[in-house]
Amino acid sequence: MTRTIVLASNNSGKLKEFNALLAPLGFDVRPQGEFNVPEAEEPHPTFVENALAKARHAARLTGLPALADDSGVCANALGGAPGVYSARYAGEPKSDARNNAKLVAELAAHADKSAYYYCVLVYVRHADDPQPLIAEGRWDGEIVADPRGAGGFGYDPHFLLPAFGKTAAELSAEDKNRISHRGLALRALVEKLR
Ligand code: IMP
Repeated sequence: MTRTIVLASNNSGKLKEFNALLAPLGFDVRPQGEFNVPEAEEPHPTFVENALAKARHAARLTGLPALADDSGVCANALGGAPGVYSARYAGEPKSDARNNAKLVAELAAHADKSAYYYCVLVYVRHADDPQPLIAEGRWDGEIVADPRGAGGFGYDPHFLLPAFGKTAAELSAEDKNRISHRGLALRALVEKLR
């Protein structure tokens, strides 16, 4: 039996990634836009609170189980910034170019360029589920001043993986999904759903 779950996002890349791992378990993941669910607010200071708010919102408006993610990049020398503010680090309107320029500028005075991507996934069976499933993933790298690569999105051209000698934007989508924060979190969630 196929079980429909609503994804609290309209990002087609995420939808594909999530369906690839969840379809074999009998889940059909549909974007919230298909159910006319508007984007939820993300007012919280932690990733997990924002993901939970988005999952609840989608579950409440559709009556379906819901899956949400929240993610960002955290620089160690900046106390974890940009963190939950990654998408709008340089303010409105959202701009990857300005976000990257700000992150590189903030780190210029610091010798420690280490950073990590973090992703949390939250699955709720219904809006008032007292036991949401929560899975996390973390991907370590360092921020480089000069961008490299045309793949990925966001901070990827500045996110160097020293073990590969490549930035995240120089990896194929398949390789990135295999090792990224989102891929790790998704596989951890799959284990919990089994
Ligand atoms: P969201 O959780 O998908 O909204 O991501 C929040 C923000 O974190 C994005 O807008 C990006 O700035 C950053 N981010 C999250 N994951 C990635 C990634 O895999 N590559 C590059 N940037 C990312």
